[in-house]
Amino acid sequence: MAKPNKPYTISLSVNPTCIKQFEKHGKEKFPNEAAAFLIGTSKGHSISIEELYYPSISSIKATNSSFEVDYSEEDNAKKYAEELGLKLIGDIHTHPWEFWQLKVNKSLLLGEVAHQPSETDWNDRYGIDWITGITLIREVRRGSFKISTRFWGPTIPIILNKNA
Ligand SMILES: [Zn+2]
Repeated sequence: MAKPNKPYTISLSVNPTCIKQFEKHGKEKFPNEAAAFLIGTSKGHSISIEELYYPSISSIKATNSSFEVDYSEEDNAKKYAEELGLKLIGDIHTHPWEFWQLKVNKSLLLGEVAHQPSETDWNDRYGIDWITGITLIREVRRGSFKISTRFWGPTIPIILNKNA
């Protein structure tokens, strides 16, 4: 069978060291959420993640279901990217699930809940060309974790026209 034509596919290359480091960072911050900015290149439908920018600790407010960072950190991430000759292309954050939460929700434990961004995640995206990484951290037994990361591509925000 012929492969379907997918003209809107984005080809993403990732520096695996960055992601491994972020997954380790996320585990250290568990059960709170953790986040970083994605730094790399983008040309047409080709995007690469080369580096991460971690916001300063004083700019962060994190709980086990939210992560907020001062807006100034977006500018700092942009500056950091420019110094490296790269661009700010997105962000990545963790979705941590504690053992007790998995115990009461078997679908989480079995991995049926995967890496999808939440409604807040979609609403908070910085632009239509923004890449979102979600690192799922599941405490499958006390002190033992399953961690994996997936990326989501650009979307176009919709504003409902109530007069139509
Ligand atoms: Zn999220």
